[in-house]
This record gives sequence, C-alpha cells and structure tokens, in this order.
Amino acid sequence: MDGIFIIGAGECGTRAAFALREAGYSGSVTLIGAEPHLPYERPPLSKPMSGAVQMKLICAKESLEAAGIDYLQGVSASKLDAGAGILTLSDGRVSRYEKLLLATGARPRRLACPGAELALDFRTHADAEAIFANIAPGRSVAIIGGGLIGMELAAVLRGKEVPVSVIEAAPKPLGRAVPPRFAEKLHARHAAEGVRFHLGRAVMAISDDGVALTDGSMVPADLVVSAIGVLPETALADAAGLATGNGILTDGRLRTSAPNVFAAGDCAAVAQPGGGHTRFESWRNARTQAETVARNMAGATETFTAIPWFWSDQYDLGLQVAGLPQPAQKSVVRSVATGELQFYLDDGRLVAAAGLGIGNGLAKDIKLAEMLIASGTKPEPAALADPGLNLKALLKSARAA
Ligand code: NAP
Repeated sequence: MDGIFIIGAGECGTRAAFALREAGYSGSVTLIGAEPHLPYERPPLSKPMSGAVQMKLICAKESLEAAGIDYLQGVSASKLDAGAGILTLSDGRVSRYEKLLLATGARPRRLACPGAELALDFRTHADAEAIFANIAPGRSVAIIGGGLIGMELAAVLRGKEVPVSVIEAAPKPLGRAVPPRFAEKLHARHAAEGVRFHLGRAVMAISDDGVALTDGSMVPADLVVSAIGVLPETALADAAGLATGNGILTDGRLRTSAPNVFAAGDCAAVAQPGGGHTRFESWRNARTQAETVARNMAGATETFTAIPWFWSDQYDLGLQVAGLPQPAQKSVVRSVATGELQFYLDDGRLVAAAGLGIGNGLAKDIKLAEMLIASGTKPEPAALADPGLNLKALLKSARAA
C-alpha cells in the first residue's frame, strides 16, 4: 500500500493533506497538482497589487515537507482503476493506494458560439495573468456572465478605469447565489460605477471587434472574458465507473461509490438528509469538506453538516451569505450602521442570513447568525429586525433554552 493519494492541489486537496496529519494519520500522503505552482489561493486572483496578479500560496514548500506531504507539482492523474485500487499518473508512475481523495474541482463552462476561443476564462493564476496583462485604462472589456466572477471582475476593472460591459443571459445579474435584495443593490452600484449591462441577451458570436448578441446589437470590446459558470471535473471518476451526476456522488461522509475513494470540494455532490445530492462551489465549502473528509479517511465516521457560507467583495461593499436563502422562506431585514442584514426563517426556524455593507463591517453579525442557525433556534422576527437587540444576546438565550 502507498498510503493516501489526493488528486487536486487546490484549496480542498491541500487543506485535506494537512488535515490528515492533524487527524493523526501517519502513513504517506501524496498530493497531486496539475498546475506548475505550489498550491495557491484563488480569491486574491481578481485583486492584482500594483498591476501584478497575486500568488498567495496556501502553504510554503517547507510546510509541505515538514508535514511529510509529498507534493507532485505539474502532474495529473490519467487513470483510476478503482476495483484494483491503482492510480496511474501523467508522469508514468503507477501506484497502489490505501485511500484516495478526488478533489478535482471544477472547470469553466465554455461558450459554443463562433469565436468562443477568443474569450478568456478566469479560474487559474495563468488565466488571471492573461486578463490583467491585457487591460489598460480606456481598453474596453466585455464580460460574459453576470455571476460572482463576472461582477467581482467588473468591480476591479472599473477601479482601474477600464470601460466594462456585462452580458448576462438572465434578466438580472447575480441571480444564482445572491439574495435578490442584495443582488439588486449590487447591480445598482455597478450601474452607478459605469458598468454597462446587456441583460436577457444571448451571445451569437465573438470577434476581434467585440461580442455580437442575438438581438442584433454589438458590444464593442478589446478583450472578452467568459464567466458563465463552472462544471464539476468528473472525467477521471466517470472513466473509472464511479457514480456521478452533477458532480462525483458521495454519501454524507463524502465516500464515493467506489471502496476507499472519497470526493470533496467543487467536484463533489454530497447526499442530503432529505434526499438528493448538493454540490457547492465556494472557498469555505472546499475547506470544511476537506477537514471532514480527512478525518473520515483517517478513520472517523462523520457526516458533513457545515452550514454553507460565502463572501464577495465588490467595490467597497462586502457581501456575506450563510445558509441557503430561498424565495419561499419568510425574511426579515435589519438595518445597521454599516449596511443591511436579512434573515430567513423556515417554519419559524432561522435557516439563513445574508448581509451587505461597507467592507467587513457585517462579518461579526453573520458569524453570530451562523451560530444561531446551527443552534436550531426559532427567534422572534421582531427581535431579528431590531438593530438595538444584540445577536449575541439572542444566541445566549437560544443556548440557555
Ligand atoms: P455563476 O455564479 O454560476 O454565474 C454565471 C452567470 O453566467 C450566470 O448568471 C449565468 O446565467 C450566466 N450565463 C450562463 N451562460 C451564459 C451565456 N451564454 N451568456 C451570458 N450569460 C450566461 O458562475 P461564475 O461567476 O462563473 O463563478 C463560477 C463559480 O465560482 C460559481 O459557483 C461561483 O459561485 C463561484 N465563485 C464564488 C465566489 C465567491 O464566493 N466570492 C467568487 C467567484 C466565483 P444563468 O444563471 O441564467 O445560467
């Protein structure tokens, strides 16, 4: 046996490697990363410093060595024989594994229109370098897709006086993960900052002149970026015959359909207590699933239960969302000095909370809201709406009850 192999050295795979050691696993740990870098953080990619794309490492080479993690840089897994427990790598190595973690992440969805190859993706450090090397004040950028990547990039580019157009298939931007109240506020802020929106339009073709839309209009652009979502990277799992759907299917303990093979992070669709499988694409999810899966690979039997959470910075505004806000839930708004909070109740129980405000001003409230959600409390809506009532006090009484 060759110990534990982790395929994918992004946030999830790298965190899992260290968490295996924290969980007391003493066998060999091999971390396989296809990119030609040490593992790095993706959120800083959209925030270049003095014109240079940041390379914020998740860990130094020395930390990997100190933890006894064998990092294979620029190597990918080419074949998985899950029946025999054998993994073949792109460098020709063939290894028998004791346990395997698929942390293969996600890859950008691709446009299918003529000229699609002219649009740049935005996922890796190399993608970020290609984009930021090509921007300058006055050189226009068309971003296709008004999701989190598109809108975060738009904000950064407007800060550099780059003319920006956002083309979005839906009638409104940020329609997927962001609660409508805050999506509207962010949309308005982008419009006030000069972003030109082309909503409810599809892309017909991309050329050196820009993007032609299906309504016959043309969005002139010197550079086109595609940010139309991501697809889970399941190719290796599919070829190995593992159960997949919208991701690599796992049970609540993050075990796939193959013995000793686990999956976590952007690629994993995790069984839910009420039925079905859910896949999350966020930094926090990658980390929390990494920690659970590492403990389970080291012998624990934990079910993954962390509350989903993500943040987004656009201009001087910070958005945070904990839980899964749904339109059918009753919601309550609390106005505070630095912004607004919105709480979501399902049958009286607090199930989600979101906040939009200046900088990181609402982080503490969202943290308390997360704890309230975890406590399963049924707070009075009036108490949630009252800015004079400290959430800490609510949490205290919830815990006492
Ligand atoms: P996304 O949030 O799924 O947004 C993609 C947007 O593009 C959607 O609004 C989608 O509309 C639209 N779209 C799809 N096809 C289109 C087309 N042909 N023309 C125009 N618009 C089109 O994906 P993303 O922004 O690319 O981000 C990728 C993933 O990374 C997401 O899961 C995102 O949540 C995650 N991420 C998270 C953060 C964060 O947590 N701060 C930051 C960046 C990225 P429809 O919904 O109508 O398909």
